[in-house]
Amino acid sequence: QYKRVLSEGLAKAGLTADLSRCHAPEVVDYIVYAPNPDLTDFSPFTRAKAVLCLWAGVEDIVGNKTLTQPLTRMVDPGLTEGMVEWVSGHVLRHHLGMDAHIVNPDHQWQPKAPPLARDRTIGVLGLGTLGAACASALAALNFNVTGYSRSPKDIAGVICRSGPEGLAETLSVAEILVLLLPLTAATENLIDTKALSRMPQNAILINPGRGPLIDDDALLKALEIGQISHATLDVFHQEPLPQAHPFWTHPKITVTPHIASETRPATASQQIVENIRRGEAGLPLLHLVDRGAGY
Ligand code: NDP
Repeated sequence: QYKRVLSEGLAKAGLTADLSRCHAPEVVDYIVYAPNPDLTDFSPFTRAKAVLCLWAGVEDIVGNKTLTQPLTRMVDPGLTEGMVEWVSGHVLRHHLGMDAHIVNPDHQWQPKAPPLARDRTIGVLGLGTLGAACASALAALNFNVTGYSRSPKDIAGVICRSGPEGLAETLSVAEILVLLLPLTAATENLIDTKALSRMPQNAILINPGRGPLIDDDALLKALEIGQISHATLDVFHQEPLPQAHPFWTHPKITVTPHIASETRPATASQQIVENIRRGEAGLPLLHLVDRGAGY
């Protein structure tokens, strides 16, 4: 997928490169990385200058003690575009109540028009590359959007919150909540019983972030008591989601198989090339992961 686009991009940047999946570790200058169970020990890559991750989420690699080189994560316009489309689509599905018309076995004529976006509040947890783009797109559709992040943000048309109170405030208004946080020690199980109980009754949960952001048992309970009316989940504690997992058949859960968005080789390779160019020129790399924060 990457060989041609990377080779072309590197050549265009005036960089001579020998791309291979099977170089001896000690000759490698840059590692272009996708989560891979066969590569867990980075110590033999003695001359590598950086590990350039093709994924936005780096939870599989960020804590690797053998990794001493700088680690970058993926910021790819194609990935962002895809996420904006997936999130907008699933928000609109729930906002417009499309299911009542798509699945209508009794052919009931129910002429109830959906509300306007201006009368609906969406919460977005995580206002980084993907969360900010989704929040802006939803605001452009006229939704009331409140977003939450670790550090304060200023995004046109979006109410931005931060800090513990910011989380509680965002949850309390979110009729539809979108999770676009990275998985870190601080975000694991963030959506637990307490968080879910802060949300408006019958709220919708949409998770294209990472499965372990949610305490699954707490979610099942919240669905049972009607605190949450539906959950659309793209990511899970275990992937692929096991065949026998109750989420597959739950009437109030939609499962999508980690396809909310993906890195697109044509655009993603441009970031990889740019970082190799920077590395060779002694310039700071783009999108460095903060190993302490875990993202
Ligand atoms: P970014 O690193 O750009 O943004 C992360 C956001 O989360 C930032 O706003 C950050 O705050 C915030 N955040 C992190 N930790 C906390 C915390 N403890 N409390 C509050 N806010 C916090 O990541 P991206 O937007 O690029 O990606 C987000 C996630 O989306 C990825 O980590 C990945 O897990 C997931 N993803 C899923 C895909 C799919 O197909 N399902 C595809 C691609 C990504 P601050 O701005 O202050 O740093």
